[in-house]
Amino acid sequence: MVKGLVAGRLALVTGAGSGIGRAACQVLSREGATVIAADKHHDSALETIKAHTALASGAFDVGDHSAMELDVSNSKSVQGVLQNILKQYKAPPTIVVNSAGITKDNWLLKMSESDYDSVLDVNLKGTFLVMQTFAKAMTEASVTGSIVNISSIVGKYGNLGQSNYTASKAGVVAMTKTAAKELGKFNIRVNAVLPGFINTPIVKTVPDKVMMMMLMLVPLGRMGEPEEIAEVITFLSSDKSSFITGAAIDVTGGF
Ligand code: NAP
Repeated sequence: MVKGLVAGRLALVTGAGSGIGRAACQVLSREGATVIAADKHHDSALETIKAHTALASGAFDVGDHSAMELDVSNSKSVQGVLQNILKQYKAPPTIVVNSAGITKDNWLLKMSESDYDSVLDVNLKGTFLVMQTFAKAMTEASVTGSIVNISSIVGKYGNLGQSNYTASKAGVVAMTKTAAKELGKFNIRVNAVLPGFINTPIVKTVPDKVMMMMLMLVPLGRMGEPEEIAEVITFLSSDKSSFITGAAIDVTGGF
């Protein structure tokens, strides 16, 4: 029998081909969930399943976890993934982690309308489409669930060059709180995690000088690792957090 914090649960993770999403697949599977890794790039999602889940340690059959191609900003793509899941697993996921996200940084005075739109489309509208589609599927199947949305600490404080990104991440927190209020009656919990600076490809574009200045503001004096976010995601996904909903939890090393 599979043991763990989320044993026997089906989990969908978006943005699962890299960084925090990949680490979430790793920790959720370690804690007994069957994981569906969904990403814009099927290959990277498959790599997550093959190399980073409990499958790699031989704990699962190949058939249990799966990788799917998903563009969170496209409602047809989100619907398609739901239909694939219902066909393959005969039930919707009861854990949904919204980790897909992009940055397109520039000064406010120079930012193009298309860079503004694309960041809002993926980070905010994508979170909306995935939440709406999968929460609806959970209510139709009369199952309870947990949704975890990945915001960012800069959504709270702002950040140079990120007027699009910070707005999208502040929006994710507000939408999380609204969804928690609406979905509580179905026993679907919705929470947000606000990571600080985490060692993933998304922060590689931050200039070294800026990163050093940022790290001086982190009491723990270092960047976080994606696994440190994934542990919190898994806690929020599990029944250990059964009375937490509408929360926005900073995981920043004290930043
Ligand atoms: P990452 O390593 O770049 O991973 C993000 C993943 O999402 C990538 O595989 C990316 O594919 C995928 N993706 C992009 N657009 C997508 C779409 N439309 N549909 C589906 N998947 C898509 O970044 P990360 O650091 O793990 O970030 C994960 C989440 O944490 C993001 O929401 C990010 O904003 C948030 N966050 C990160 C940090 C940090 O310091 N790392 C801090 C605060 C918040 P591509 O590589 O092709 O784009």
